[in-house]
Amino acid sequence: MEEMPLVLPESKEKICKSLVQETPCFCYFEEDILKNLEKLKSFEAPFGLTVRYAMKTNSNLALLQLFDSNGFHIDASSVFECYRAMAANIRAEKILLTSQDSPSKEELQDLVEKGVLFNATSLFQLEEFGKCFPKHKISVRFNVGIGSGWTKATSTGGLSSSFGIYAQIDKIQSLLRKYELCLERIHIHIGSGSDPEKQKLVAGKAIELLSIFQDVKIVNLGGGFKVARMKDEKSVDISEISKGSAKLFREFHEKTGRKIHLEIEPGTASIANEGYIISKIKDIVSTGKEGFTFVKLDTGMTENARIPMYGAQHPLYHIPIGHEKENPYPYVVVGPCCESGDILSCERGNSEEIATRTLWEAEIGDLVVVGGAGSYCSSMACANYNSRPRAAEFLVRKTGELVLIRRRQKLEDIYKDDIKI
Ligand SMILES: *Cc1c(COP(=O)(O)O)cnc(C)c1O
Repeated sequence: MEEMPLVLPESKEKICKSLVQETPCFCYFEEDILKNLEKLKSFEAPFGLTVRYAMKTNSNLALLQLFDSNGFHIDASSVFECYRAMAANIRAEKILLTSQDSPSKEELQDLVEKGVLFNATSLFQLEEFGKCFPKHKISVRFNVGIGSGWTKATSTGGLSSSFGIYAQIDKIQSLLRKYELCLERIHIHIGSGSDPEKQKLVAGKAIELLSIFQDVKIVNLGGGFKVARMKDEKSVDISEISKGSAKLFREFHEKTGRKIHLEIEPGTASIANEGYIISKIKDIVSTGKEGFTFVKLDTGMTENARIPMYGAQHPLYHIPIGHEKENPYPYVVVGPCCESGDILSCERGNSEEIATRTLWEAEIGDLVVVGGAGSYCSSMACANYNSRPRAAEFLVRKTGELVLIRRRQKLEDIYKDDIKI
């Protein structure tokens, strides 16, 4: 059976066409994001729920404002992200910092005094916090021996992971005693794009820890909810996961009388499929009968590093400009950078091997739209490689209005901090 090119809904195609002069650029759809947020807020939590937007997934200020005004709190992965969230006028008390990179004493002091919540991800971080803020409430990230992600690179639990405190319960307890800290929150995040069966085990692990740590009032179950970008991928059923955990926390309440408030931290599940990269075909070349036909786009690893990093699959929608949708043909789709690894149509999980995607008969000047690009694209891209300016970003408001939420970077801004000799 011949594969057919993917087609965007007409309304989206129209908006993409209106951005033909702006490529490459990102475009996000508020209405779709809001629908998604409602789904996430319905995560079943018998004694209350806080949803934290994992802002590393996409940190544009306008999007942070959107999440904030819809009741989301923030999961920040670095000191920098905390300040960025505050620059979007998000109240410090809504931000939980969970950082691999230990903050300096000065940073910790400034952030915690402002009201940012701190989640210690190592014994060192716990001790540093204790020294600065004895008798304070604290949160600890645990590595409960379960890790699961899209690829090994996004798994954050188990013996080969440095995220969180693994076992060493006695050491945690002695630090809590030494600094008279009150452990208020237990945090577990096993990875991004996790296997739902492994995710279901997290609540049980949290409950084991709750019986050890009697002061805990909040359990943060992390994010990592898998989202299907491609037709042959499967999104995790968030309501199924939450039903399982809600049951455990209800039983725990019946046994102990403790009402545990739940938190989740979706990044990908908040915005992955609500963002697109709009790009133009700049050239078409062929390596002959035995070879391939390549379309070269003005987007690639500079806007989406997930493909070269993980061999991730993103849907590609072809919008012919000035000609009809006809004669489907398998093309290799590549980016603009000077390396063969800048490819948009690689094999799944193997960015070293090229694969093809079926597009309509392609012409230079046509648009190709990359789907599933709301998460870990703008925020994680190899921007500025080949001195390519960062792409502009647009938001389609729920009213239909198209607004610019990040200007295209000026070339001079790329080298303005270089110092000539
Ligand atoms: C990255 C991260 C998340 C979000 O992961 P997604 O896969 O994008 O949902 C949540 N919590 C923590 C601590 C993270 O580091």
